[in-house]
Amino acid sequence: MGIFFFLTHFYSYGKSEELAEGNYTTMINLHKFIEQNQPNENISIRVNCPMCSGRNTFTITKMHGKLLWNCYKASCKIKGGKETKRSKSDIKTIILSSYYQPSFQLPDYFVSVHNNQKALTYLKYNNCLDALQDKRAKILYDPKQDRVVFVVSDGSQHFDAIGRSLNKKVIPKWYRYGKSQKLFFCGSHEYAILVEDAASACAVSTKFTGVALLGTNMKDADLTQLKKFKHVFICLDADATRKSLDLQKYLSYIVSASVVRLKEDLKYYDIEQISEVIWKNN
Ligand SMILES: [Zn+2]
Repeated sequence: MGIFFFLTHFYSYGKSEELAEGNYTTMINLHKFIEQNQPNENISIRVNCPMCSGRNTFTITKMHGKLLWNCYKASCKIKGGKETKRSKSDIKTIILSSYYQPSFQLPDYFVSVHNNQKALTYLKYNNCLDALQDKRAKILYDPKQDRVVFVVSDGSQHFDAIGRSLNKKVIPKWYRYGKSQKLFFCGSHEYAILVEDAASACAVSTKFTGVALLGTNMKDADLTQLKKFKHVFICLDADATRKSLDLQKYLSYIVSASVVRLKEDLKYYDIEQISEVIWKNN
């Protein structure tokens, strides 16, 4: 027992001495290794540990201009961090990630629009039921704010949601849940009609792709999705002529576009009447 204690004690003493002597060179080699293997900003990589040789147990992460490293093997205590220079591609990544907002999460208290009669009545009077039934649009009900909610999505990802108040006491009339600058799209046709709100976009979606501004300032909006259309008919409210002409001027840089002059607001027309006005004047 006594000899055993003596031997282990001697052994561990000898080992730590050896580490202390090699510490300086080891640290230099480790820093060199990390510099050589550093990933791009916001990325982690896993490699074999340079200290314990553990297979893929060593992670190097670059974040906020810092390199962080760590070995997952319990017996290997190597761990550290240091400041580093940002490369051109790191700066690009940072700019892009602040521009593209993370995907939007729909509040979990939204329910099916079929749960609320007022919401269904609103959709019926605004000619949106077809779009709902044919699943061209995802439409829900917000029981907290008493709103019918149109989800801004590309079919696979949600970007935002906009809710129309069903109660005069609930303001504003249209409420945007997210912070995206996305337009609302409904339908998949080659010709698009640009309208003010999501309900109007759904209403025209049997014959055109309805695109709703949702109060977005065009100069901030993400317009890339408009490029694919053969033509965009700008069909805003009857009193928005000035705005329509400004929009046409702005859109003409990316897509063929024209203003449709309506005598009444869009909501007073059905899709046949809208088609007639559009094809007669263009
Ligand atoms: Zn290790």
